Amino acid sequence: MAEIDVDRYQGPLREATPNGHVGFDSLPDQVVNKATNNGFCFNILCIGETGIGKSTMMNTLFNTSFDDDPRPHDLPGVRLRANSYELQETNVRLKLTIVDTVGFGDQVNKENSYRPIVDYIDQQFEAYLQEELKVKRNLHDYNDSRIHACLYFIAPTGHSLKSLDLVTMKELVEKVNIIPVIAKSDTISKEELQQFKFKIMSELLSAGIQTYQFPTDDQSVSALNAKMNSLLPFAVVGSMDEIKVGNRMVRARQYPWGTVQVENDAHCDFVHLREMILRTNLEDLRSTTHTKHYELHRRNKLREMGFNDDAQSNNFNLQEVYENKRVEHQRNMQDKEDEMRQTFVARVKEKENELKEAEGQLHEKFESLRKRHTDDKRRLEERRQALEDEMSAFIQRKNTVEMQQSQSKKGLPKK
Ligand code: GDP
Repeated sequence: MAEIDVDRYQGPLREATPNGHVGFDSLPDQVVNKATNNGFCFNILCIGETGIGKSTMMNTLFNTSFDDDPRPHDLPGVRLRANSYELQETNVRLKLTIVDTVGFGDQVNKENSYRPIVDYIDQQFEAYLQEELKVKRNLHDYNDSRIHACLYFIAPTGHSLKSLDLVTMKELVEKVNIIPVIAKSDTISKEELQQFKFKIMSELLSAGIQTYQFPTDDQSVSALNAKMNSLLPFAVVGSMDEIKVGNRMVRARQYPWGTVQVENDAHCDFVHLREMILRTNLEDLRSTTHTKHYELHRRNKLREMGFNDDAQSNNFNLQEVYENKRVEHQRNMQDKEDEMRQTFVARVKEKENELKEAEGQLHEKFESLRKRHTDDKRRLEERRQALEDEMSAFIQRKNTVEMQQSQSKKGLPKK
């Protein structure tokens, strides 16, 4: 395209003050209204072994009893199960999708347990990319299924992370915002918990796993977020059971020796988790997913497709990239066709040889049968001949005997 010559002012941006109210100060309200009307979506992935408290935590977090079918415990591998719900608070609608990792940690061989999770996350990125690349795309109404937050449930062992945890987090860290939590933290003492938290963070650090950090660049939340970052991983307790404390009902877990209140920050970090992911950083989780994790996926995919920024600076031409892609595709198709033809010819030859071999075997069998038949016939003929000779000798003997008998009868004197 020919470049148009434009007279553009190059100096610093000049200030201009309207003489009266123009009305563009309503822009933030317009944005909020539009977003509120559209509704929001939030997708959470829960990773953790069966029975670690994932479903209970989701119910506790959203103060809802989500419907879900019972999960089997004897699957041969990990399966992901996504359930979507429509929630509403005042006039804000939230489409929430909870993805559970059914069967995670249940198998004896856990080597590839992370694979279905990685594939699921990639598939959601890929679906978004495909929509983005369409000529007639519809990102406005797009049903975004990309994972915004991954709650990683660590078993409250008090020792260290399991190798399955380290491997899985390492595979996922570039793809999703990981928020590690210590599950069922009411089962571990306060002192052990502090040591366990410290141990987990140092293990993650030495494995080079940088989990999601609450952002500290926005001054209004930086102090809170920085404090919360230092409390990670959150030690959580989940429960929907209510008990009466003073004159109000609180959610808690009751034991013979006492009560653990879920929303009491002296008992566990549940309120911090809820505050951080739902009340303060929900939008940051959504935007980080788009600008960091999805961006990385998109960049890698576009590079694979032959686009890159170097080409752009060297007078990048979409037509050229398309043409190269087309030629490469044709070459691949040609290679595939040649390969198929060669395979076909080889198979035909193989079949021909097999048939020839079978024919030879049949021929041999026929020959041996024919020979056996001729031998049998010859043997029978010989036996028949022998029998005939025997018979004629017998008849001869019989005649001789009969003759001798009649002669001797004639020669006897009459009485
Ligand atoms: P999931 O398989 O990971 O979804 O686990 P569930 O949420 O179904 O919980 C399994 C069991 O653990 C249930 O009996 C829960 O009541 C119990 N549980 C859930 N959260 C906690 C917790 O924070 N502390 C304790 N002690 N038990 C919990």
